[in-house]
Amino acid sequence: MRHLSRTISEMSRSGIREIMELATARPDIIHLELGEPDFATPDHVIEAAVEAARTGFTRYTPNRGILSVREAMARKIQERNHFDVDPSQIVVTTGAVNALVQAVMVVCDPGDTLLIPDPGWPNYEMMARVAQTSIGRYRLLRDHSFLPDLDHLEYLCRESTRPKAIVVNSPGNPGGGVYDRPTIERLIEIAGKYDLYLISDECYEDIVFEGEHISPAAFDDAGRVISVFSVSKSYAMTGWRVGYLAASPEVASLVAKLQETVTACASSVAQKAAEAAISGEQECVARMREAYRRRRDVALEFLNASGLLVSRPQGGFYVIADTSSVKSSGYELSRRLIVETGVAVAPGETFGPSGTGMVRISLATGIDTLREGLRRFSAAIRAWS
Ligand code: PLP
Repeated sequence: MRHLSRTISEMSRSGIREIMELATARPDIIHLELGEPDFATPDHVIEAAVEAARTGFTRYTPNRGILSVREAMARKIQERNHFDVDPSQIVVTTGAVNALVQAVMVVCDPGDTLLIPDPGWPNYEMMARVAQTSIGRYRLLRDHSFLPDLDHLEYLCRESTRPKAIVVNSPGNPGGGVYDRPTIERLIEIAGKYDLYLISDECYEDIVFEGEHISPAAFDDAGRVISVFSVSKSYAMTGWRVGYLAASPEVASLVAKLQETVTACASSVAQKAAEAAISGEQECVARMREAYRRRRDVALEFLNASGLLVSRPQGGFYVIADTSSVKSSGYELSRRLIVETGVAVAPGETFGPSGTGMVRISLATGIDTLREGLRRFSAAIRAWS
């Protein structure tokens, strides 16, 4: 047989999925590795989907998505993200995952360079692989709430092989950094100076505990920013698979064109559910955010008392724990934690080289389960150090 695609064969898997598969094969595991809200999708959203299916939203939609859905998204962007887009500049996608990979593919040709955060969500590297794009990693500052090291970023733009785009992620996964206004302004300045696109992953925009979420596109008057949003985390809708992208007319057209070959369009019923989520009452979002905040505070107290706290996340739903006292890799440690303590966490290395000596703990689980998981986790780290 001829060999299968080297690009995909050689692509490393997400370490989060790897640990998750190991963990789900065993009963009674405390899942602190998952980045998935444990809440149910709000009732009014489910009702809207049922209604949509009953009233004929069961067919293909335009590549960009249903017009009323994009109009709702454009209104939301204007009101909450503070920039103007025409609905024609929005493409509804199958989750933010799909929006991000399509953004990378329309911006980059094979051989171009994409800058991604370190530590950062492992899928960015996988997306670059699929697009046959080289990556450069810019540092996030562990001692400064995992905000980007802008001087290092600028150094990479100046000295490396002329990157084509930068992926930014605020609130960040795994670090929980929420980029402040000076950071965003400098990112826009760097993008202009080195003629780059900024692919802005804002899928945790509603989960902010300190500071405020600022969309880079609100400061961009050159059409360099591609803003990616999602209903997955904000409305506990991970399985509905709806994300959306807002960009310049040129970029949006290319994404819509590409979408025809990848998924044709996002699910029609799920698009209508997303419309209801975005346009309906937002109390449900605030309730979930407050629950994550309480869990974060419990985790901070616990990890601080055990001397394992790395930094205080300002947003998102993860906390990073320091495991450098245990002399094994994050993968070995994560497997051992599953087998010997029944707790699953995400190994730091999957987020990039700077994740060595850390693991990511997810707050997407009930507070009592979280407490028990943290208790077992800290006891194990103490015993194995
Ligand atoms: N971006 C980041 C940083 C994520 O952590 C995730 C999911 O975990 C996504 C994007 C994907 O979101 P979606 O469910 O909308 O595809």
